Amino acid sequence: MKIDILTLFPEMFGAIKESILGKALDKGLFELNLINIRDFSLEKHKKVDDYIFGGGDGMLMTPQPLYDAIMSVKTDNSYVVYMSPKGTVLTQSKVKSMALNYDHLIIVCGHYEGIDQRVIDLCIDEQISIGDYVLTGGELPAMVLVDTIARFIPNVLHSETSTSDESFEDGLLEYPQYTRPREFMGLSVPDVLLNGNHKEIEKWKLEQKVIETKKYRPDLIDKEN
Ligand code: SAM
Repeated sequence: MKIDILTLFPEMFGAIKESILGKALDKGLFELNLINIRDFSLEKHKKVDDYIFGGGDGMLMTPQPLYDAIMSVKTDNSYVVYMSPKGTVLTQSKVKSMALNYDHLIIVCGHYEGIDQRVIDLCIDEQISIGDYVLTGGELPAMVLVDTIARFIPNVLHSETSTSDESFEDGLLEYPQYTRPREFMGLSVPDVLLNGNHKEIEKWKLEQKVIETKKYRPDLIDKEN
């Protein structure tokens, strides 16, 4: 998969080049390009924002640099996403379908009060939100989207089970997990996990998934019914 991120702050994306995603990029498992929208400004001082017609606080990103930046990378195969609090809220199933269905993603990061509506009307296939709150820019949301999608790209994670066993995969949260030592600060690992009986372990895991989901996200159980 190829991902082009359009942003006014490409230097913010250092975080994505670390750890698991950094290794995946080094191995060429997916391609990530950072495109600075300001480079496309035809204004003599490379300005990219202006006052909002009709009044209102703050500044808006002007259409010309962003439109030209999108057009510089868009092909018939591209899917253009604008990170926006107005968008569909991202879920694990949405992430999975994006990872499976698109070969080329263009992710637009807004800043200030956002972007001119005409760019949305002309170029954006979908607006995606990372939750019902407002951030200062689309850079962190774009990193969230790339991180979640990358986990579904073959070989980015160590094994197939890395995603299949996780929270949300079957509509439930993950069971509690333990590592060494067997005793820590007076708390023990549950016996069932130490007895080597895989049938019992699987039964315990499923029971715990239901318990965790009822406790922390009862809305997920209601959704299933
Ligand atoms: N004026 C906009 C509104 O009220 O809907 C908010 C603009 S916000 C300050 C600036 C940029 O941050 C947006 O253009 C968008 O790219 C990004 N952003 C903020 N919150 C977001 C969220 N929850 N999900 C995705 N992107 C978000």
